[in-house]
Amino acid sequence: MKITDLKCAIIANAPIIQIRTDEGITGWGQIETPKPYVKPQVLDLKDWIVGQDPRDVERVMRRIRVRGGFKPFGAAVSAIEHALWDIAGKAVNAPAHRLLGGKVRDQVRTYRTLYQAEVPGGAEHTPAGYKRWAEYGKSLKGEFTLFKLPSAYHSSMVRDFPNFYYGEVQTDAPFPYPHKGTMTKEGFDHLVACITAAKETLGPGYNTAVDAGPGFMPIDALRLAKAVEHLHLMWLEDMITGDYVPYVNHDVYREVTQNTTTPIHTGEEIYLRQNYKHLIESHAVHVIGPDPADVGGLAEIKWIAEHADLHGIAMAPHGTANGIFGLAALIQVCAVMPDNLIAFEYPARFEPFWYDITEGFDGMPVKGGLIDVPNRPGMGINFNVKEAKKHLTEGDANFFD
Ligand SMILES: [Mg+2]
Repeated sequence: MKITDLKCAIIANAPIIQIRTDEGITGWGQIETPKPYVKPQVLDLKDWIVGQDPRDVERVMRRIRVRGGFKPFGAAVSAIEHALWDIAGKAVNAPAHRLLGGKVRDQVRTYRTLYQAEVPGGAEHTPAGYKRWAEYGKSLKGEFTLFKLPSAYHSSMVRDFPNFYYGEVQTDAPFPYPHKGTMTKEGFDHLVACITAAKETLGPGYNTAVDAGPGFMPIDALRLAKAVEHLHLMWLEDMITGDYVPYVNHDVYREVTQNTTTPIHTGEEIYLRQNYKHLIESHAVHVIGPDPADVGGLAEIKWIAEHADLHGIAMAPHGTANGIFGLAALIQVCAVMPDNLIAFEYPARFEPFWYDITEGFDGMPVKGGLIDVPNRPGMGINFNVKEAKKHLTEGDANFFD
């Protein structure tokens, strides 16, 4: 079997990867919704993979792996890897998880990040707002038991709470979180009060993580971790580096991690196992969150999960904007991860029409916070081409032809 073509279309802002073969089998992959700008990078990789046998996934990846980087530049390479596993599975009529080592669980736990804007009536960064946030989470379809709240430097709290930190508040930046610095006592106390309100509202049977940075100075990160130890949070995410920061700073993380029982988490922006090496081997964090659509693919995150497990580090893979194909990929690889898997982040940010233009999920697939691992070939999801064509924009009109 040979790869004959690599295509990329933008559907509802999400780059979709298509790999075609001379045997009529097609593989699909998806890049995070906020990254339509990586389409030229995807297409640039076409000449590197055409003519190769897609079933030799690692052999193909060795040709293109060096052409990726920290988020967002690992996305093209990663989505191509997903499409290769899709083809390799379909070629032997087996789900991708069987080629990745075989599943060790029939259901995978997923957690739900709660966005401030989706809460009916809004949820401001106050204890009352965090209470509403938690109540909204408990009411969601899917009966999620684990949530994540964007807060502190990873939110508009920096803008909304007066004198949150000793630094300039940037009100004209497109992202709400380009801030970094030392927190004021008042800002710190407010943050702790908000987190406490959310956790107490959730009550028994639920838990939450907090996506808090990057932006913390290490001493504030440690103060926060210690101040919330009694709440038994699942983790505090990306306080020092993370998100789109193109470096790790594992030694600074280690200072915090070694001195608290609140789990410290990072890693969604990191590309490849090599860049996890020091973080894992120095026990710099308690939990890591690689994203299979950014880290280099499914085999890459599987390797990292095994390495983390050897060092007593838990897994909570990132995936909030990975779309419906990214959801399928997360399920496949989380089915084969070792016992250090906590849960993956549910890709909540896709519109309901994706269920109509694809075949695989008939609607929200989460029940009791769990998703069944499908046994359909490849990634277990395909386009309904007739319906999907309606969503192509002019420049991509020939994508399915
Ligand atoms: Mg995050």
